[in-house]
Amino acid sequence: MRILVVGAGPTGISAGWRLAERGHDDWLLVEGDDHPGGLAASVVDENGFTWDLGGHVLFSHYRYFDQLMREALGDAWVEHEREAWVWMRERWVPYPFQNNIWRLPPDELARCLEGLVAIQRLAGGGEPPANFVEWLRRSFGDGLCETFMFPYNFKVWAYEPSQLGVDWMGERVATVDLARVLRNLVFQRDDVNWGPNATFKFPLHGGTGAIWDALAAKLPADRLECGRRLTAVDTANRVATFADGSVERYDRLLSTIPCDVLLRLLADRPDLTARADEFVHSSSHVVGIGFDGSPPPSLTTKCWMYFPEPETPFYRTTVFSNYSPNNVARPGEQWSLMAEISESRDKPVDASRIIEQTIAGFRRSGFIDDSTPIVTTWHRRLEHGYPTPWLGRDAVLNAVLPQLEACGIFSRGRFGTWRYEVSNQDHSAMQGVEAVDWMLAGIPETTVFGGMNAEPPAIVPEEK
Ligand SMILES: Cc1cc2nc3c(=O)[nH]c(=O)nc-3n(C[C@H](O)[C@H](O)[C@H](O)COP(=O)(O)OP(=O)(O)OC[C@H]3O[C@@H](n4cnc5c(N)ncnc54)[C@H](O)[C@@H]3O)c2cc1C
Repeated sequence: MRILVVGAGPTGISAGWRLAERGHDDWLLVEGDDHPGGLAASVVDENGFTWDLGGHVLFSHYRYFDQLMREALGDAWVEHEREAWVWMRERWVPYPFQNNIWRLPPDELARCLEGLVAIQRLAGGGEPPANFVEWLRRSFGDGLCETFMFPYNFKVWAYEPSQLGVDWMGERVATVDLARVLRNLVFQRDDVNWGPNATFKFPLHGGTGAIWDALAAKLPADRLECGRRLTAVDTANRVATFADGSVERYDRLLSTIPCDVLLRLLADRPDLTARADEFVHSSSHVVGIGFDGSPPPSLTTKCWMYFPEPETPFYRTTVFSNYSPNNVARPGEQWSLMAEISESRDKPVDASRIIEQTIAGFRRSGFIDDSTPIVTTWHRRLEHGYPTPWLGRDAVLNAVLPQLEACGIFSRGRFGTWRYEVSNQDHSAMQGVEAVDWMLAGIPETTVFGGMNAEPPAIVPEEK
């Protein structure tokens, strides 16, 4: 069985890893860019500062992924306790916001509490929520929604929450325990320990991309070919064509490129190509600013911050020099901030002013002042940044993915399956591993099609 894997991001690299681990001998991994890593790659700018394509935090739901990370970098990691904050109303509120509303101005705190009391009365009744707005209102009450949930979610998704579905949240959004909120209010206590990423690790050198560079380098020689961009797929004859005119025959195609892009490349399936326009995504701008000196005391231990207010262009900023001292050119003498800004047809962005607006946002938030020496600025736009969980997403995916599979094409990964809820690095890597296990041994894929926390089985010698 000849397996062609397209795209050497975390999904494709991990698929290659699993193919090698299983001893399969007829496969190839091709990548359009001149380097592996995809959205999890890192960049060193002309002034020696390292940037991720958006602040990447590594956490894991899988022992297999833990082992993969050890294979990649051994113990060359920096361990962190998550310190995430919300900056609004000229004050810090610890994340998760809903547990720490005692820090809000009294009028807003009162509105949030009124909303929380109101939803207790409604608990459990009525029709299921029809969209994300309804889900938010029922889960958090009107006050919390208007103070934080609505403005923040518009900034991060670049679409109004009313356009998003409800099936994707899973563990990502904490629901509210009113008694806990009240205890925190009475004791004026910050409540910060929530969720799967309370601790995380980061590569000591080279940014997040170092992980995927290291794993790619350990794949068997000649199996990874960069600089080969897929331009067409003949599904009937199972032939892939590349920008340089070269072709590859396959029995199974594991595509990790965005599903809408893939559908447009299907030369002989106009019925599937026609569905490409139904997919909704947002783009991401990543802006890195490097400084001489040290961060202000308010930022020395913070990891990342959320910004729900419309006055600041970014929804999130990472103190990237806190992740590893080696993310700056001169460790100990410099520091860096990295901001993320979303873009969509509903939320346009003027890319020509984005660096200047980001710096202004840092000033307005008090992170820097006019005398802070800026030594580098860096900007990257990612066309496919977030796979939007739009209303009706699952109906489209449930129609398209099986039809692809019927012709031997497995679309997997962050934008391959478009499932935001399983689109981080660990999920993506496991989608690649599990797709290989399915193709070679018929083992059902659990990350995309079932429960989380499943482990791939030990290698079985016989292949399907
Ligand atoms: C702003 C931002 C922040 C993030 N933060 C985190 C985080 O904190 N933690 C975390 O775990 N994850 C995070 N992620 C997600 C992480 O980047 C993804 O999980 C991961 O990169 C997905 O891997 P993938 O292989 O599925 O897709 P990708 O990384 O997108 O890889 C797809 C590959 O396909 C290649 N390709 C595309 N078209 C073609 C073509 N026609 N021919 C050949 N090759 C092609 C691309 O060049 C790319 O290398 C973040 C992502 C973004 C955008």
